[in-house]
Amino acid sequence: MGRAMSLLNGHEEVAVHRGERSGIYLVIAVHSTALGPALGGARLWRYATLGDGIADALRLSEAMTYKAAAAGLDLGGGKAVLCPPPDRELGPAIRRALMLDLGDLVETLDGRYVTAEDVGTGTDDMAIVAERTSHVAGKPLEDGGSGDPSPVTARGVEAAMRACFEHLHGSSDLAGRVVSVVGLGHVGLPLAERLVAAGAELIVSDIDPAKRADADRLGASWLEPDQATVAECDVLAPCALGAAVNPDNIAALRCEIVCGAANNMLAGDALAAELSERGILYAPDFIANAGGLINVYGEVHDLDRERLDELVDGIGGALRRVFDLAEERSATPLEAARAVSSERLETAGAPVLATPAGAH
Ligand code: NAD
Repeated sequence: MGRAMSLLNGHEEVAVHRGERSGIYLVIAVHSTALGPALGGARLWRYATLGDGIADALRLSEAMTYKAAAAGLDLGGGKAVLCPPPDRELGPAIRRALMLDLGDLVETLDGRYVTAEDVGTGTDDMAIVAERTSHVAGKPLEDGGSGDPSPVTARGVEAAMRACFEHLHGSSDLAGRVVSVVGLGHVGLPLAERLVAAGAELIVSDIDPAKRADADRLGASWLEPDQATVAECDVLAPCALGAAVNPDNIAALRCEIVCGAANNMLAGDALAAELSERGILYAPDFIANAGGLINVYGEVHDLDRERLDELVDGIGGALRRVFDLAEERSATPLEAARAVSSERLETAGAPVLATPAGAH
């Protein structure tokens, strides 16, 4: 089997195209449409080579399949990757050209792939993509889109946290619980606000010292990120970038729950077992942070706010089932979450070829 074939892991189709207006390569990977149209954001990143961009699209699209399946959504997994050469300036004109090129490529897939914002792209970019295709979500609110998904993601993380407490203590009440939120960005800040409103005590942290003003406003204690990660608390809520829990700090964690928004918050899968051995309950990130995906799903299916909130709060139920399954099978919550996804996909007739990787 050649290298290209070995990269494919049940993917249905992969489109690689040089944009006619921008001259920039675009990749769309459709991993699975077994549960519905393949949805996944368009990532704009400076890859060293086009091959790296293709590999990322393949990996991320597969992860989206499992994320949607675990969240119980009727969506497949896909991803677009836009690959400007590392040294190419991206002024407004070329960026607009690139988004129009993306719209054209999405349109050729005839609804099998629906694009949205991701790292490096935003709601304004999606408004341009929408000039060329209707298969786009994550448009600005004023264009009838679902806007910034972050507050919805924060709502889902709160639901996940409540499910963790219910599993451990039989009560989902957050009053008096101590939560350490590491990363006060688009998700971390609204999450912190929700937790304060629910009566939790907060430790907050960010590498940006300007965020300290938010800590004061919230009445939260401020710690440097390294200290906040290992602070004594009920919940560690990583809301910055990946690998918040890593081999260097795992032995020092002093929480009973790890539940946050960050993607790939464990530096490696083996750490899930180490958390279990240490008696720390881990809410798999791709379930806890599914609110953003649900927000976009709501736009695709034109769901009203009430139904959307119901689905986001359903993250709690999904997580409770994962914890029950983990106990039943003496597995980690991460293994149980992946089993839930795989079983749902197999029931829908999708080929499940390998252990799913973490989702973005
Ligand atoms: P963001 O960039 O708005 O916020 C990240 C914050 O973390 C920033 O304030 C940054 O200064 C801070 N930060 C960076 N490195 C840090 C470190 N080492 N220690 C402490 N703080 C640090 O990003 P976001 O949209 O809030 O997303 C946060 C995480 O959640 C990401 O991992 C993202 O992939 C994931 N996520 C976000 C959404 C969403 O709806 N935005 C959905 C699913 C998953």
